[in-house]
Amino acid sequence: MPKKMIKVSVKLYDYILSASLREPEILRRLREETAPHPYSVMQISPDQCQFMALLIRLLGATRTIELGVYTGYSSLCVALALPSDGKIIACDINEEWTRIARRYWAEAGVAHKVDLRLAPAMETLDSLLEEGHAGTFDFVFIDADKENYDGYYERSLELLRPGGLIAVDNVLWSGKVLDTNGNDPDTDAIRTFNAKLLADNRILLSMVPIADGLTLALKLPVRGGAQQQS
Ligand code: SAM
Ligand code: CA
Repeated sequence: MPKKMIKVSVKLYDYILSASLREPEILRRLREETAPHPYSVMQISPDQCQFMALLIRLLGATRTIELGVYTGYSSLCVALALPSDGKIIACDINEEWTRIARRYWAEAGVAHKVDLRLAPAMETLDSLLEEGHAGTFDFVFIDADKENYDGYYERSLELLRPGGLIAVDNVLWSGKVLDTNGNDPDTDAIRTFNAKLLADNRILLSMVPIADGLTLALKLPVRGGAQQQS
């Protein structure tokens, strides 16, 4: 297969940022405050944030879910892109990290859009389904514990409306998906998850090589019991 791709060197990545990044000042400050934190590598990159904000606008999303909040960079990014009546159900289990997120949501004037659920994300998704919210969400961002990606994906697909979008982070896992000797549970889970989505005819699929890899899965409508491929 012809390899129509470009290797992004650090210099070229710097160029991409200098030629396209429009990071709001409040997001920059949150990124800088998180930088010394031992797990700051978990935060999405500013160019990925800008891409996701564009997706939110493209979808006309108002009802969204985030799995994995950390200090709030991606949720703040989505909340800023949502209209004033937009909502994000933000799921995490860490009180300390999400306290930072709450401070920034408040400062940015988007706290009214964010419903933080401090509980295992699987429980929150199950509650949403039990409460009858299937088919009502526009966008889900999956970025919590990798071993649960499959469970998060199945529940998110049920919660989405047809035409809604799931974005799944870290699908390249620093390139470890290539290493067949690397059998740690997270790498295995991501590799298995990626293979499953390739064969899943309920979605349109694109794996975008931005940051650590972002898979986009658009939920297809079901017509006459069969999934509509278009
Ligand atoms: N999206 C965030 C950002 O860009 O700043 C980064 C999220 S970080 C990669 C993963 C988060 O998932 C952590 O904050 C962690 O506490 C949370 N997490 C881990 N296991 C979880 C679970 N079972 N349910 C909900 N959140 C979980
Ligand atoms: Ca991530």
